[in-house]
Amino acid sequence: MHPERLPDVRPSTPAEPTANPDPTSDLHGHLPSLRVALLQQRRFRIQQLADLRAALPVDAVQEEVSKTLRRGARTALADIEAALQRMDRGRYGRCVHCDAAIPLERLEILPAVALCMACQRAQDAVS
Ligand SMILES: [Zn+2]
Repeated sequence: MHPERLPDVRPSTPAEPTANPDPTSDLHGHLPSLRVALLQQRRFRIQQLADLRAALPVDAVQEEVSKTLRRGARTALADIEAALQRMDRGRYGRCVHCDAAIPLERLEILPAVALCMACQRAQDAVS
């Protein structure tokens, strides 16, 4: 779940969409398994949210923890839904920020990821 765990192989020139006329062609055969992974993650998050809602917190600390977990689960669920929508629109595997092709290895580790590594790093730096 951590982008940091990705092997640190970056292209010599980042974000060069014209280098390969169809960088997503490689991705095409992997879309069904990536969709399955997204649907599994979605089911997990929906279950997690239901469990968190069902568990009645006994004190303020626990309620705060539960709130944080719910927020995280909702964010993850929204990312998953957005990825599924991009898949339906044929935009899956493209960075939503700069339109660069996201490497398949990154998508296999993080199927719901919306940003390429360069944009992810830039976002992590400001947040
Ligand atoms: Zn990008």
